[in-house]
Amino acid sequence: MTYISLQTEHAENYSYHLHIAHLYGDLMNTYGDNGNILLLKYIAEKLGAATTFEIVSLKDAFKAEDYDLAFWGGGQDYEQSVVSEDSQRLHDELSKFIETGKPMLAICGGFQLLGDYYVQANGKRLEGTKALPHYTLNQDHNRFIGDIEIHNDEFDETYYGFENHNGRTFLQGDEKALGHVVYGQGNNDEDGTEGLHYKHTFGSYFHGPLLSRNPRIAYRLVMTALQQKYPDAEFPPFEDKFADLEDKVQVTDVKRKAEAS
Ligand code: GLN
Repeated sequence: MTYISLQTEHAENYSYHLHIAHLYGDLMNTYGDNGNILLLKYIAEKLGAATTFEIVSLKDAFKAEDYDLAFWGGGQDYEQSVVSEDSQRLHDELSKFIETGKPMLAICGGFQLLGDYYVQANGKRLEGTKALPHYTLNQDHNRFIGDIEIHNDEFDETYYGFENHNGRTFLQGDEKALGHVVYGQGNNDEDGTEGLHYKHTFGSYFHGPLLSRNPRIAYRLVMTALQQKYPDAEFPPFEDKFADLEDKVQVTDVKRKAEAS
């Protein structure tokens, strides 16, 4: 049975409401990934929307039409092996969710399991949900760990983060990257890509969590959900409500970069 993990208080005071699926949130939540849901809640509330976050985990029903947005965090190999077994049954509903253009964010282990398959550090192959075509190979006695910066040319936005993964992911078909690597390793340290962008689904290896350092991604996810659910409503642009949030993050990153060089 799904259960509510986080909810806006006094939802009756808000004009809108978003129902958000937190896929395997009890098993996959490494390196502060749950912070992403706090950012989604913060952004939604500032835009006048109350939120309800529901953990959808082992054996829980998941219907695409029941949720306005979905989030899937990262996980260690053991938890991923448990989740891999269970999550294959989500193929149809996850594909529907993604193909109909609903917004979704998947981090690291969640990003890997959204795809075709994931080869663990020990060489064992785990099947993904196959909702998207990317696949993930392992690497021998190495992990990609460290700060990372990428740039998304389509949105002309720079994203900062921290990566820590053994997997090497290769995008397929119509999948675009979340950005090209400026520094760091990204999806596989070969093709210069980091993360995934397909329709309104985003994937990334950024932990830490991704959204608190890159609030424009959080805004885009929430706005997409709101515009789909309330097509006649008007919402303020990012700059009106959240510029201060970004200023703080960017200053920290510029300072850190300057100190490192
Ligand atoms: N276990 C996966 C890997 O090492 C994912 C790790 C994570 O989610 N941080 O590639």
